Amino acid sequence: MIIYGSKSKLLIQEALPDNCPHCGTKNSLTLSVFQKYAHVFWIPLFPMSKIGVSQCDHCKQVLEHKEMPSTLLSAYENLKAQTKTPLWAFSGLVLLAVIIVLAVIQSNKKADENLQFVTAPKVGDIYEVKVENGQYTIFKVNAVKSDSVYVQYSNFQVNKITGLHTLKSDTYAPDIFSYSKQELRNMLDSGTIYGIDRE
Ligand SMILES: [Zn+2]
Repeated sequence: MIIYGSKSKLLIQEALPDNCPHCGTKNSLTLSVFQKYAHVFWIPLFPMSKIGVSQCDHCKQVLEHKEMPSTLLSAYENLKAQTKTPLWAFSGLVLLAVIIVLAVIQSNKKADENLQFVTAPKVGDIYEVKVENGQYTIFKVNAVKSDSVYVQYSNFQVNKITGLHTLKSDTYAPDIFSYSKQELRNMLDSGTIYGIDRE
C-alpha cells in the first residue's frame, strides 16, 4: 500500500495590528503562510500552493485567504511575497532522480558484466533464458572447452521471470547442450539470455 497525499508546513507568521473582522478586537490577529506539498510516505515529493490563514487570539475565528477581507488579503499577499518555496519540498523529486540515475548505472554495469561472462564463460555460471511459449528457465555451464560451452538445462520452467530464483536450487536435466561463445553472445544480444549469475 502506498501512502500519499498532501500536507502543509508553516513557513512564516506575523502579528497584525488590524481589527478582527469578526469580533473587532485590535492587535489580536496572527497571519500564517503555509507551504502545501505532495508527499509519498511522508517524504515531500513536490511543492503545491501556499495557503494563508489568519487567526484571532480573542474569538479564535480562523479565516483562509479565500475568506479574508481585502485588508487582510493584502497583508497576506505581502507576507507571502517574503517567503520562498523551500528546497525540502522537492526532496522526493531529488530522491527519485538519484534512484533513477543509480538504477541506470547499475543496469549498465550489469550489461557490461554479462558481456564479460559470455566472452569468457566459467563452469558454474548460471544463465537465465527465455524459452518458447513465454516460459523462462535457466541453464548451468558444465564445461568450457576452447570455443564450446557445455550446458545443462534445468528440469523446470516457470512462467514468470520472478519465479526463476526458485529454479536455482533445482536439479538439471542430464542432457548436455553445447553452444559456441558467439552463439551465447547472439543470445545475449537478442535478449534470449537476459541474466547471468556467477558465484
Ligand atoms: Zn476575533
